[in-house]
Amino acid sequence: MNRNFVSGRSTAPVCSHIAAAAAWLAVGAALLPAALTGCGQANGDGGRSGSRSDAASDAASEDVELAAAQGPARKPARLRQAWTPTASLKPWRTIVLHHTATETGSVESIHAEHVQRRDAEGKPWLGIGYHFVIGNGHGMVDGEVQPTFRWNDQLTGAHAGSRDHNETGIGICLVGNFDDAPPTDAQQAAAAALVAELQSRFKIPRDRILRHGEVRPTACPGRLFEVDSLLP
Ligand SMILES: [Zn+2]
Repeated sequence: MNRNFVSGRSTAPVCSHIAAAAAWLAVGAALLPAALTGCGQANGDGGRSGSRSDAASDAASEDVELAAAQGPARKPARLRQAWTPTASLKPWRTIVLHHTATETGSVESIHAEHVQRRDAEGKPWLGIGYHFVIGNGHGMVDGEVQPTFRWNDQLTGAHAGSRDHNETGIGICLVGNFDDAPPTDAQQAAAAALVAELQSRFKIPRDRILRHGEVRPTACPGRLFEVDSLLP
């Protein structure tokens, strides 16, 4: 099994990240400083590309002056590079939150389980059904957020038990059994940051950030998990 396929981590060369980043930037004016810094810098700091002060310090080229003449760069909501998929974004409308209901877990272990499942038509699942997994220190680093291949390729999920929510909902699973203990502080912080970025990028209102149990009858994500605790 190809680990990178499962984790959604790209094996593409560094320069492809710039192409991906470019898709996030609304106008050429915002993109120019990143292009001028070269692969290493642009890859190393995803936050640099929209900065006006960088434009001023990096170069006095005609291109940058032209960009400045076009007015202030717009700052569209965008995801941090590690959460930016390879594929073009789908118009996600919902976030559905889950727990693994296990004490340990990882993208790989969940994938190994889900790949054995079959859908209503008897077809085997492609693999892990969630778009993101957040570790708890047992199987993954505590608070680590890993996008899966479903996010990287912007595929319909297999997590909600509802066709509509699988097609329009981003599935986020936190490792742990939150009937027994709440998420760790690091998981809480990571989930809050992820939800905030997704909410901002896709304009998802609060009432479409759902516990799995709001989509179908299930105890997931556990009685000690509070969606409101993730929100500002
Ligand atoms: Zn669930």
